[in-house]
Amino acid sequence: MNTFENVLIIGSGVAGMEASLMLSKAGKKVYLVEKLSLIGGKTIKNEETFPNMDCSTCLVAPIQQEILQDQKIDVMTVSTVQKVSGKAGNFKVTINKKARYVNIAACLGCGMCYPVCPVEQSNEWEENLINKKAIYVPCSGSLPNVPVIDADKCLRLNGSEECNLCVEACMFGAIDFTEKNETIEIEVGGIIVATGFDMLDVSEIENLGYKKYPGVYTAMEFERLFAANGPTEGKLTLRETEKIPESIAIIHCVGRKEVGYCSSICCMYSSKHAQFLKHKLPEAKIYNLYSDICVSDKTYQKFQKNVAKHSSKFIYRDDKSELEITQNDNKLKVSYQNNKGIQDAVTVDMVILANATVPSNDIELLTDVLQIEKDKFGFIDTQSFRIGSVVTSKPGIFVAGCAEGAKDLQSSVLQAEAAVSQILSMK
Ligand code: SF4
Repeated sequence: MNTFENVLIIGSGVAGMEASLMLSKAGKKVYLVEKLSLIGGKTIKNEETFPNMDCSTCLVAPIQQEILQDQKIDVMTVSTVQKVSGKAGNFKVTINKKARYVNIAACLGCGMCYPVCPVEQSNEWEENLINKKAIYVPCSGSLPNVPVIDADKCLRLNGSEECNLCVEACMFGAIDFTEKNETIEIEVGGIIVATGFDMLDVSEIENLGYKKYPGVYTAMEFERLFAANGPTEGKLTLRETEKIPESIAIIHCVGRKEVGYCSSICCMYSSKHAQFLKHKLPEAKIYNLYSDICVSDKTYQKFQKNVAKHSSKFIYRDDKSELEITQNDNKLKVSYQNNKGIQDAVTVDMVILANATVPSNDIELLTDVLQIEKDKFGFIDTQSFRIGSVVTSKPGIFVAGCAEGAKDLQSSVLQAEAAVSQILSMK
């Protein structure tokens, strides 16, 4: 017997959500597995999306709500796929669903439980710009708006202290320490992998001064700094000095040599950052240092040219010579080789590094579990030149979005739609 009526989707970013809703509307039962405590993916980390500068959370929130209310979509957060056997039409899947220790049905998301928690730990969702408690939501506006307790950090769950503070603070009796991790077995006909991407860790590239000089930020750190739902609620001040930057250099193509490919979205998000800055800090001097401009879409070219004309000075730097960032008296000097082969420099308060996108950190494990192949860069491989841009090396398993390689939202949605078409055509 086949189970084509059931589909597993791994990852709940834009691609995973789009595929879930389409399949549900086509009458399929969808299991949407997400390792984090919230759905929505990295899009909700961005304040605005290019090229229309739409509010990201406003775009995504209605989709998140629709997913959470859809009776045909079983959303499993804090969950991972442990084992997959069988073949197309009849996969048997084992899912590990971690205990949240907060009853989703009882919690109203009032947030009274976080401030009382004595534990402080780094908040990776916020790019470690602020701390979070042992009981937390990753950022304000998380959906589902229900906290999760980190079992490794909670004093009570570790047995180190008889802490009961979050239980006492919760007026709705939603904290539930009797919850247990669950192992769930499901049967599905097809699988879509939509686990997204990570950003290259640039702390090892010494000449950039990242983590050495406080004024040097990664692109994602800047996104969170700028976001209204971020750690500073959109207040743009430099770490340590708390000064508003008066000059900013945005460096394109950071880590391109290290990863060996063009990430294809950095030129656009770097142009977007310049546009943000011009709106927020109209008097600031903004520089975009680029080696290549990769903006393939016709609307993107118009956007980038507009930014170069009105918002930022675009400066060519020859990437045959290493760019170097040094600091003197809280000022950052960005030295580069210009288009005439001569060493030049800009001096600024803040640097934003457009670091390369890389495969998500759990891709090794997941491709082993699914027994699908990766390409030479570590993204999920597809048979794109033969039978389809979303077909993996294993029949019945498809990929959509940045798990296959970095791409913009529009392309991620297109791949989700293609993967759904593949699933619907399976017999
Ligand atoms: Fe924090 Fe755990 Fe104490 Fe709750 S029981 S307040 S999560 S340490």
